[in-house]
Amino acid sequence: MRIPQKTAASHQREELADIIRKDVRDCYQCMKCSSGCPFAEEMDYMPHQMMWMTNLGLYEKILESKSLWICASCLACSSRCPRDIEPAKVMEGFRAMLLRERGQTKVAPVIPKGVPRQAVIANMRKFRR
Ligand code: SF4
Ligand code: SF4
Repeated sequence: MRIPQKTAASHQREELADIIRKDVRDCYQCMKCSSGCPFAEEMDYMPHQMMWMTNLGLYEKILESKSLWICASCLACSSRCPRDIEPAKVMEGFRAMLLRERGQTKVAPVIPKGVPRQAVIANMRKFRR
């Protein structure tokens, strides 16, 4: 993978940390998350790679990735992680950042056609209170 020069700004790192409340630096790349992910083969970056990229600050790549929207929020990765990283939560954190950026932070009473189910789940988890 080519490493782009641009890495996440501190306010982006803070925003993600505020959403997920996890320290992804605890990830030791054991790949248990990816080996249990039912959609890993369809992803451009597998869950353990997403965690690695998160630590490197490659948010741009992550936010552009298909993996964020292929992830079905099944939580299999989170249940398998020996370090309690909760990759599903990290994925969801990035989706929430994208939705905030686009101003799509509220769940409408009727979900418009074409909205990815992951976006609906991310919104409901974030704004259910
Ligand atoms: S299972 Fe946990 S520790 Fe292992 S690679 Fe995935 S996120 Fe990292
Ligand atoms: S929550 Fe997403 S990344 Fe984790 S195992 Fe399920 S589909 Fe894969």
